[in-house]
Amino acid sequence: MVAAAGTDPAGPPRVRVAVAGYRGKVGAEMARGVEAAPDLDYVGGVEVGDDLASFLADRRPEALVDFTHPSAALENALAAVAAGCRPVIGTTGIPPEGVDRLEGACREAGLGGIVAPNFSVGAVVMIRLAELAAPYFSAVEVIEMHHATKADAPSGTALATARRLGARGKFEYARPEKLTLDDVRGGEEGGVGIHSVRLPGLVADQEVIFGLTGQTLTITHRTTSREAFVPGVLLAIRRVTAEPRFYRALDELLGLT
Ligand code: NAP
Repeated sequence: MVAAAGTDPAGPPRVRVAVAGYRGKVGAEMARGVEAAPDLDYVGGVEVGDDLASFLADRRPEALVDFTHPSAALENALAAVAAGCRPVIGTTGIPPEGVDRLEGACREAGLGGIVAPNFSVGAVVMIRLAELAAPYFSAVEVIEMHHATKADAPSGTALATARRLGARGKFEYARPEKLTLDDVRGGEEGGVGIHSVRLPGLVADQEVIFGLTGQTLTITHRTTSREAFVPGVLLAIRRVTAEPRFYRALDELLGLT
């Protein structure tokens, strides 16, 4: 038998991993993270215009990590599944029916896979901790802080946090009678206030501040670089290549739901 490229014939077999969007901001961190992992074998990356089907046939990855663009990620993932490779999708903006389609394709092929809007372990733990606190407080506001080039506001994570908190607690959202500046109280979802800060120098931070008579509780998650998404993706690669299960979020994979 011929050993896979980069695999130490004396050691246990390493999982072969490829990265779509490997020159992008997050994809480049993924390529480095996979390369550095002792149990994973980075077999290469694809960018726009590369022939993905030939790449998959040639390099035979067992997992394809995708941080590209919503217009490309679903087709990339379906091509991966057709080649017997598990999709690990971080690209946001795939519509729910697209995720349903991918789940069906994985099930039919007997392969695991994951589409997760947030691969940051700290962020998903933050949301779970906030959910635990929610029933005990009368008000809560979410402040999300991102780099100035982020296209949307609020972040998907802030919106998901507000929705999950709204389902767990009953909150009063204070609306002052007089606002001397439009929108100064931010937005509101299910009684939960949301504020979006956009500044150069930030990556992706979020604070959840609960209020109750005479006290506040703040749960903060800070991201110092895009490396923050690597540990969650490595966990996901290991899990979906070990068992044929499909996940729609990292917290589902971590057992935090
Ligand atoms: P980025 O810097 O623009 O990187 C995207 C890369 O993908 C670019 O190099 C782009 O090439 C390439 N690309 C586009 N279409 C492709 C295709 N069909 N095949 C292969 N490569 C393709 O963006 P980013 O900041 O890394 O973010 C990428 C995605 O990840 C976004 O959807 C973002 O929202 C998401 N994201 C998710 C998480 C999470 O935790 N799930 C965290 C951060 C970001 P060109 O530059 O030539 O177009």
